[in-house]
Amino acid sequence: MLSVGVNLVPRTGLSALHAEVTALSLAQQRMGGWDLGAGGASRQLVVNARPCVQCFGAVLWSGVRSLVIGADGPEVEEATGFDEGPMVADWMEQLSARGIDVTAGVRHAQALQVLRDFGASDSLVYYPRGGSSSGWLSSARRAARDERERCPSAGCTSPPAHRGPAPRP
Ligand SMILES: [Zn+2]
Repeated sequence: MLSVGVNLVPRTGLSALHAEVTALSLAQQRMGGWDLGAGGASRQLVVNARPCVQCFGAVLWSGVRSLVIGADGPEVEEATGFDEGPMVADWMEQLSARGIDVTAGVRHAQALQVLRDFGASDSLVYYPRGGSSSGWLSSARRAARDERERCPSAGCTSPPAHRGPAPRP
C-alpha cells in the first residue's frame, strides 16, 4: 500500500482535500511525481464510494489504472446529505476509455453503513445538497441530534416524557 487518505476539509479549511485527493496526493508525493502509472505501474485507488465530480477529475489525472468503490453516488447523497456535484452519467465509461478499470459494489453494505452512520451523526456537511456551504443539518440529522441531546443514553427508546435524568459518566 502506497498511501491512505481521509477527508481533511473541515480540519484544514481546504475544500479540495477529499479522501481521494489526499490519498492520491500522498502517493504522488511518495513516488516523486504526478503520474502514478509511470513506468507501466498498475496502481489502484480503493474508495468507500463513487467519487464526487472533483475526485472524478482527480482520478482521471492521477495515473492510477483501476478504481474500486463500494457505494454509488446517489446513495451517498441520500445517506450523508452531501452534494456530489454534476457527475456525468457515463463516468465509468469515461474512466475506462482512459485506461482506468472500475469495479463497483465491493463490500457495498459495509460502505453504505459507514456513510449512513456519518449521516446520522451531527458531523458537518460542509457542501450540502441544495448549495449552502455554511454548514447544514438535514431535518433528519437535526432531529437525531436533538434526540441525542434530550437523552444521551445510547439505546434509550423510552418516550422523552418518561425518561429520567441522563446518567452520569
Ligand atoms: Zn470528492
